[in-house]
Amino acid sequence: MGAVHDTPAKGLVLVVEDEHPIADLVRLYLSRDGFGVHVEHDGSAGLAAARRLRPVACILDIALPGMDGTEICRRMRADGDWTPVIFLTARDDEIDRILGLELGGDDYVTKPFSPRELVTRVKALLRRAGGTPDRVRTLGPVTLDPAKRSVTVDGAALSLTPTEFDLLGHLLGRPGRVFTREELLASVWGYASAAGTRTVDVHVAQVRAKLGTAAALIRTVRGVGYTADD
Ligand code: CA
Repeated sequence: MGAVHDTPAKGLVLVVEDEHPIADLVRLYLSRDGFGVHVEHDGSAGLAAARRLRPVACILDIALPGMDGTEICRRMRADGDWTPVIFLTARDDEIDRILGLELGGDDYVTKPFSPRELVTRVKALLRRAGGTPDRVRTLGPVTLDPAKRSVTVDGAALSLTPTEFDLLGHLLGRPGRVFTREELLASVWGYASAAGTRTVDVHVAQVRAKLGTAAALIRTVRGVGYTADD
């Protein structure tokens, strides 16, 4: 297949940010890295663009005119759209809500942020979302099939976000092995930062909530991290 001139090699990223200088900077860095970029400055237009353009990832500011970034994500998830979402936030106290079950955000950066760091996060997120086919993992009532990106508990299918899927897949890949939060961040999220360890806790809580009766399969090892065992 020859390269199509107007199709960016790495896919289209939707950026919804009402502060023009920030949006311009994010556009510059993403396009420099080979991504196509579509920018909207208003929440309602952002949601419409997410539905129309089917981007490979979305970067959503939280405080937006028209519709708040979290509402865009909520509506995408309600439509069954699990496109990876990174939020831009000015407030640390929003993180639990952003990454929480109800919203299903995958990651966040806190303003002011480095555009280079944001691009790294986008790439890490896409690596995870793409995944590579691998062996089926079964532990107790849980079966995870990387090729089909499916998880079942006693045969009943679960709906996990790409991040939740990769986190569970990583834990199930080596049952009984205890992973520190930093290890999980590096392996699952593709970056290491002490500040990000809360991200791991929030996502573990979400996976447990979705596992329901099988939640105890992910065990907290106090002062260390997490392990999956029977
Ligand atoms: Ca804003």
